Amino acid sequence: MNRKQRRRLAKSASSVAAGSGPGPASPAFDAGDALALLSGLVRQVRPAAVTLPEAAPAVPTERAPPVPSLDPQARDENIATTCYYLAMDALRGGRTPETLARAVAAVAAHADRLWAEARREVEAGDKPKIACKAGCGWCCHQTITVAPVEAVAIAAHVRDKFTAEARTALHQRLAAFVEQIGALSAAERARRQVPCSYLVDGACSIYEVRPLRCRGVHSRDVGHCIWRYEYPDAARTDGRSRVGAGPYVVESARIMNAALAGLARACRDLGLLVDSLDIEAATHAALDTPQVEARFLAGAPVFSGLIKGSQTA
Ligand code: SF4
Repeated sequence: MNRKQRRRLAKSASSVAAGSGPGPASPAFDAGDALALLSGLVRQVRPAAVTLPEAAPAVPTERAPPVPSLDPQARDENIATTCYYLAMDALRGGRTPETLARAVAAVAAHADRLWAEARREVEAGDKPKIACKAGCGWCCHQTITVAPVEAVAIAAHVRDKFTAEARTALHQRLAAFVEQIGALSAAERARRQVPCSYLVDGACSIYEVRPLRCRGVHSRDVGHCIWRYEYPDAARTDGRSRVGAGPYVVESARIMNAALAGLARACRDLGLLVDSLDIEAATHAALDTPQVEARFLAGAPVFSGLIKGSQTA
C-alpha cells in the first residue's frame, strides 16, 4: 500500500468512528462492543470537543453546547440502548439490593441529564415556558404505571429513608387505595380525583426515585392541567387532547419512555419481570415483601396477582 492509499484508508476509518461515514445508522453490535457503543452515543448526543484558537473567548462552562438534532427514532433507540447497558453494567456487579438501586438510579440520572440538555431547546425562543414547579401536583391525580424494578427500588427507598411514622401513614394510604380504588378503571379513578399515594402536602414524597413516566410529564399550561383534573371526561373526549400533545412536552416523554424501554430490556435479558404495574398496587406488594430486592432478583413472584399482561417494552 502506498502513502496515498494509507492516507485515504485512515481518513475513511476516522469518519466512520465519528458516525459521519457510510454504513448503517444503528450498527449491529454485541455485548463486547458495549463500551464503544456507549462512547459513540455520547458523541452523538453531545457534540465533540472543538479546539478553539487562542484568541477565542472561553466557552461558558455553565451552558453546554446545543444538542445536535438526530432522527427522533434513532435518538430514542440510542437512549434505550445506553440505558440498557447502564442497567446491565450495574446489575452485572451481582444481584444485590445495591446493584438494583444503582441500575435504576443510573438510568434515571442519564435520562434526567438528557432532558436537562433538551429542555433549553424546548424552551428556546418565544415558545411558552414549562409551567411545572414545586407544589403543583395536578398531574399526580391519575393512574401511574411503573416497571416492577422501579416499584422495588421505590419500596427500598421508603424502607430505608422514610421515618417510621411516614412509613406507617404511607402503608395506610396504599392499603386503602388498593381496597377502594385499585379495581377502578383509569377513567373512574380520574373522575374521583384521587391523588397519587405518594403526593404529600402537594409534593412528591419519593421525588428522588419517582418513576420514569412521572419524570416525562411537563406542561406549558397549568390551566390545562387544572381543566383535565376538574373535567376528566371532557379531557378524554375533547379533540385537543386526542389530536395533539396539548401543552405537554413531547421531548421529555420520549426521553423517559426510551429510558424505560432500555431498563425493561435489561430486566428481560436478566430474566426479571417487565410488566407495567400500577404504582400503588405494586409498591404496596413490594413493601409487604421482606427482603424484596433479593426476592425480586431471584425471580420470586413478588407481584403475582397484579400482572395485566402489558409489557413495559
Ligand atoms: S410518584 Fe410522585 S411524581 Fe409520580 S404521580 Fe406520584 S406524587 Fe406525582
